[in-house]
Amino acid sequence: MSKLYTARDIEALIAKGADLTDAANGRLTPMARDLLRQQKIKPGKPAAAANPSGTPRIHEPALPDYEYHWIPGGDPKTAAEIEKFFYSPEIQVIKERICHIGRRIWDKGYVDGNGGNITVRVGDNLVLCTPTLISKGFMTPDDLCLVDLDGNQVAGTRPRTSEVNTHLGIMKNEPKAKSCVHAHPVYATAFAVAGVTPPACLIPEPEVFLGEIGLASYQTPGTPENAREVGALAKKHQSILMQNHGVICWGKDVEDAYWKMENTDAFCQTVTVTMQLGGPKQYGTDKLRELIQLRQKLGMPDHRLDELKECELCDAGDTTVNTAPQPSASSCSCQIGPEPSGGEPDEALVQQITDLIMKQLK
Ligand SMILES: [Zn+2]
Repeated sequence: MSKLYTARDIEALIAKGADLTDAANGRLTPMARDLLRQQKIKPGKPAAAANPSGTPRIHEPALPDYEYHWIPGGDPKTAAEIEKFFYSPEIQVIKERICHIGRRIWDKGYVDGNGGNITVRVGDNLVLCTPTLISKGFMTPDDLCLVDLDGNQVAGTRPRTSEVNTHLGIMKNEPKAKSCVHAHPVYATAFAVAGVTPPACLIPEPEVFLGEIGLASYQTPGTPENAREVGALAKKHQSILMQNHGVICWGKDVEDAYWKMENTDAFCQTVTVTMQLGGPKQYGTDKLRELIQLRQKLGMPDHRLDELKECELCDAGDTTVNTAPQPSASSCSCQIGPEPSGGEPDEALVQQITDLIMKQLK
């Protein structure tokens, strides 16, 4: 029997720049098939002819695109059409990715018991979601559900999670949000329980790939109030701490949304450890401006340059919804002058941040 190619096999071949002809003609898992299509190679058809010179073929480097694109106005309508769509190969691939991310959030200890939930938007009015009362580490594609944007379940044998409403609140407010991941990772959830967000101007990567973390005031999970509260923040924030609850992140696909979750928890963990080492030292707002511009160039939204004054950039915390005092309120106010010429951050400023976060974490 011919070799069965998995997505991992295909990724390895692509990474090596190897010819994909054999794989395209071999037996393929659904995700492997999808990866080949993203390389513009039709499974079952030979790849482009080998280079007659015999030298290795050069592939144009390209990022894989896992974002789900549907035809606007083309959602299946009848029950039979929805059922067929729900069990189609293209949706099977997305279901497998959701289960894969479920396994990863469980492996990382971001969820316990039946906690957390995941969604992927697959139409104008259709969203795949995880079911209620299930461990995210042990789901199979058959466990998943399909809902409309009002939360009505339209396919799937298990009942959908009640927290899907929060995900839908995000998707209704921000069309770029094609997937949401909600979990309770310990460090980020601790910040949510304390009612604080990490200050800006500390680490470059979160500024570029995560943006400013939002903070939603406490509402009962799964309620319309929580969906409204969190949804209203989605345009400005891809990662939102839900006070006294956990974290929800959105992205263009499920892996992207999951990355934001990892970024958020790692950032909160680093800030927590930094507190034990004497507190953070911030870089200047000019450097933050460069990072935000880089983020915008990568196509990720960021409201800070449009809405904040230069001297407010390092304040970067959401003071409009936070019921607890923010570290940002004193971290880099407009009254405080620029960084000293020696490049050393203001010690009093560092102490202010440290004291405020420590006070709130205690
Ligand atoms: Zn939750």
